[in-house]
Amino acid sequence: MSRAYNFSAGPAAMPESVLRRAQSELLEWGTARASVMEISHRGKDFIALAQKSERDLRTLLNIPQNYKVLFLQGGATQHFAQIPMNFARREQSADYVITGHWGEKAAKEAKPLTQVRIAANGADGNFTAIPARASWQLDAKAAYVHYTPNETIHGVEFQDIPDVVGVPLVADMSSDILSRPVDVSKFGIIYAGAQKNIGASGLVVMIVREDLLERCPKDIPKIFNYAEHAANESMLNTPNTFGWYLASLVFEWLIAEGGLAAIGARNRAKADLLYGYIDNSGFYKNPVEKSARSWMNVPFVLPREDLDAIFLKGAEAAGLMALKGHRAVGGMRASLYNAMPLEGVRALVDFMRDFARTNG
Ligand SMILES: *Cc1c(COP(=O)(O)O)cnc(C)c1O
Repeated sequence: MSRAYNFSAGPAAMPESVLRRAQSELLEWGTARASVMEISHRGKDFIALAQKSERDLRTLLNIPQNYKVLFLQGGATQHFAQIPMNFARREQSADYVITGHWGEKAAKEAKPLTQVRIAANGADGNFTAIPARASWQLDAKAAYVHYTPNETIHGVEFQDIPDVVGVPLVADMSSDILSRPVDVSKFGIIYAGAQKNIGASGLVVMIVREDLLERCPKDIPKIFNYAEHAANESMLNTPNTFGWYLASLVFEWLIAEGGLAAIGARNRAKADLLYGYIDNSGFYKNPVEKSARSWMNVPFVLPREDLDAIFLKGAEAAGLMALKGHRAVGGMRASLYNAMPLEGVRALVDFMRDFARTNG
């Protein structure tokens, strides 16, 4: 076996024990006498999986009873459009707080459907900080406030849930869901593509406060209507059954690891180790203000761009893969999602230290 420590931003590393379990039961799942991907989503076996996965997610996130959990498709990007379609009227405004690439994209996708107001924008500071809450221009009558708790490309993460004074808060948690405990009751809607911290791409998990579903308009196609998905237990049509199954294994793994308090402590230790090394290295730099640094995605640059290719080649040889930064930011990016063990971050820091010594 030559599996590397995988720092990919997404699709990202999965817990190895989850992959092994999926491998071991790929041909025959439970008592189904077939693979989980070969059976009806409406049969009792799959329904049991669907219900168990929802219960586990509710346990992990302590989701209040007045929230629905949906297992959807289309990637987070489809929901950039579908959220305004369902929760804002055309003539109503929706507020967007932009702290990086994904928030920007969410606002752009909403534009044809509602009056997008940019309540705050970190673009002026090249997305290296979160605009102070006092500077946000919120509209008390907005349909919702949308933000991105963790910006995957810029490595900017909110450390607290912003208070948006009674307007439903909508969070694209694609890259930080399940990375630490979070108070779900503070949100109107949480949604996340699965391929960073939940499992395989093609699945989207949404947690939505029930009263908001009353807003879903009757005059849009059913397949885009969240209230219809909720009323049909996320089985309006054939769901991504294999993706849902992998998510269920990841939820079980998280519970076995001690839940989100334990995972959060581990994620914090991983991030502290890497940022601590970068800041003291005198070689690498992370441009993000300390109070806004992401635990999940750590961008960093080398002193000279011509070292990038040499760094990446050496990292590959040392069993450290997918460290190339996003083209919008350049340099490197290490993604430290739940499935990345502390030993992987230690191996990265060891490599970085050696590289700095040889090339400094
Ligand atoms: C990866 C990512 C997306 C895009 O997800 P798709 O599944 O490709 O649509 C959106 N938002 C955030 C925060 C992401 O990290």
